[in-house]
Amino acid sequence: SPDDKATLLAATKLVADAYFQQLDNPKTDDAKIARDYLEQRGVDEENRKRFQIGFAPDSWSFAIDLLDKNKLNAKIAHAAGVAFQKRSGDGYVDAFRGRLMFPIHDLQNRVISMGGRVIPKIAERHGDHAGGKYINGPETKLFRKSFNLYGLQLAREPIRKGGEALVMEGYTDVVAARQAGIEPVVAVLGTALTEPHIKVLNRFAQRVVLVLDGDAAGQRRADEVLELFVKADVDLRVLTLPDGSDPADFIADHGREKFETIVSGAPDALDHKLSRLTEGIDVTRDTHAVMKAIETMVGVISKAPRINGLKVDQLMMRMARTFELPIERLNETLERTR
Ligand code: ATP
Ligand code: MN
Ligand code: MN
Ligand code: MN
Repeated sequence: SPDDKATLLAATKLVADAYFQQLDNPKTDDAKIARDYLEQRGVDEENRKRFQIGFAPDSWSFAIDLLDKNKLNAKIAHAAGVAFQKRSGDGYVDAFRGRLMFPIHDLQNRVISMGGRVIPKIAERHGDHAGGKYINGPETKLFRKSFNLYGLQLAREPIRKGGEALVMEGYTDVVAARQAGIEPVVAVLGTALTEPHIKVLNRFAQRVVLVLDGDAAGQRRADEVLELFVKADVDLRVLTLPDGSDPADFIADHGREKFETIVSGAPDALDHKLSRLTEGIDVTRDTHAVMKAIETMVGVISKAPRINGLKVDQLMMRMARTFELPIERLNETLERTR
């Protein structure tokens, strides 16, 4: 059938290879702008190649035309995630226009999707029609964002060797980390870390460290991760970077060693949440705040369906210590919540 996996993989490969070549196109000013932007971001040639970073020309039909020349129609371009349906009327347009392109590979190193970053100088021309900072490929037969991870094809062996995986938020974080010599790095893209992600990583790693941007979005993600930690059978740690920085910024400012030091000191998701909840409160005196914090924690723990008894006991004990309350009392609260 026209949209079987092999056909879609042929399509994504053709497009990703063409975007890769377009970045080197000596004939266009836009390609030069894109190369300058990449250089300004500090990405060197070795890593540009390693991650197959490319450039999508500022055209409505570069990818569609390329596929058409290869006997793959626009419907296939759409099913492969490189073209969108036109908002009005029928027909299709390229999903990525005038963007820096990051292909996403599976473990067999096949292109299954891609994401494109806006290049400010090129976007200026379009005024407010430029779209968001990033456009991530949609869910397709090839790509499930709650399962696939950016960079896993490169990080898999380093993850296995060290037993640890670092999960970041963006393409540029993974590229910057790798360029700094930090190898066991992957990214979730515009989505939360999920149980399927953890299951995949757990094949290679005993420990997963979620390294989040120090911005508001990163803080929210840190809060959500407790539920995953309670359910998942993995040592899951969380690090929120300081001062609004992300891994790429932090490594640029402070270097690899400092980054690795704070990663190795990352607390697990429970301690992370406990210290957020108790920030600025005196647990022996702020009765109301303590009660609210306990309600929140117990709520998360009680909602986890497959959590094992030992783990519950462990978590309850740590909470009892933090809030300086007898564990029996906390267990009663848990029973009542269930
Ligand atoms: P950069 O350093 O290039 O600005 P970033 O990776 O630090 O990019 P963030 O804003 O921290 O960007 O977002 C993290 C990830 O979330 C991005 O890599 C991208 O996958 C996704 N994302 C960010 N902004 C958008 C957007 N407007 N639309 C869709 N996805 C987005
Ligand atoms: Mn961010
Ligand atoms: Mn960034
Ligand atoms: Mn970021």
